[in-house]
Amino acid sequence: MPDLHVPRRDALRELVRQAGADALLVTNLLNIRYLTGFTGSNAALLLDAEGDERTLFCTDGRYVTQAGAEVPDLELVDDRASAAALAKRARGRTGFESHHVSVEQFEALKTLADEAELVRLPGLAERLRLVKDEHEIDAVRRACAAADAALAGLVERGGIRPGRTELEVARELENLMLDHGSEARSFESIVATGANSAIPHHRPTGAVLAAGDFLKLDFGATVEGYHSDMTRTLVLGHAADWQRELYELVAEAQAEGTAAVRPGAVTKEVDKTAREVIERAGHGDEFAHGLGHGVGLEIHEAPNLAKKGDGTLAAGMTVTVEPGVYLAGRGGVRIEDTLVVRDPAPELLTLSGKELVVV
Ligand code: ZN
Ligand code: ZN
Repeated sequence: MPDLHVPRRDALRELVRQAGADALLVTNLLNIRYLTGFTGSNAALLLDAEGDERTLFCTDGRYVTQAGAEVPDLELVDDRASAAALAKRARGRTGFESHHVSVEQFEALKTLADEAELVRLPGLAERLRLVKDEHEIDAVRRACAAADAALAGLVERGGIRPGRTELEVARELENLMLDHGSEARSFESIVATGANSAIPHHRPTGAVLAAGDFLKLDFGATVEGYHSDMTRTLVLGHAADWQRELYELVAEAQAEGTAAVRPGAVTKEVDKTAREVIERAGHGDEFAHGLGHGVGLEIHEAPNLAKKGDGTLAAGMTVTVEPGVYLAGRGGVRIEDTLVVRDPAPELLTLSGKELVVV
């Protein structure tokens, strides 16, 4: 789809020119996908500041046919050593993605680029990727819809019940996401029951679901390479008072944090808004992670909504809001949504209900 990628390459050219460079050697595959639509596993792009006519795209023989379909509008170089092949062709001041290149790779590229001066230009494509266009937002929206449908299907068919293991629930949830249009799971699903729910990033085990326990589910789908991210915490059977109280506290923090998400908001202030709710209840130490993160071609990307996050939100960013309180040995609650920063209020993309569902 050239119409999507041409404006992105033009925007990147502007940043390359502002940095005083003549070209940018793009070697990160996600940045290449963002800039060209190419989905293969080996590629490099030499983006010339002058325009697409002088820009080169390199991949190897395995992907030539695919590149013809996905990147029909750029001159193709066929070489297995994609970054090296384009470094040899570079001229003038050529930026490279120093945040993605190892020291060894840099030494090799420098030797090959004998007609260019290689300069560090980290994070330029990532800067553009921060704010999503409507096509990207729609991909995230569809990934969120696949996750929502999978959870609804799992509950509907009685997939969450005492006696099942965390691993069984995780597998079924992931299969249902595929049935509902996900290309692949977004990350290893977190299914944590009982005391395991107090471990923020618990990996599913053979632990058995039991009545009266929390069940924390954190999972995501992918559509066109874009991720979704959602956490829901349920109770099996009957919820005890402490579980309801904990749940209501996290739900309040999540609502406050979500309400603070708006264009111009400083990310650490958004984190603070939600964190204060939990601190006031005396559980500050048990909320030991950031409030949220950007979601896009990566499951965790900028901006970082955390105590030390000094970024500023802008309309079109897709972020999560996911406070949690984890009581070691007892159980934990996290509630997470993926949303789009909009003016005046965020657009919620994960639509699964957030009342404490007792199944
Ligand atoms: Zn998550
Ligand atoms: Zn997350």
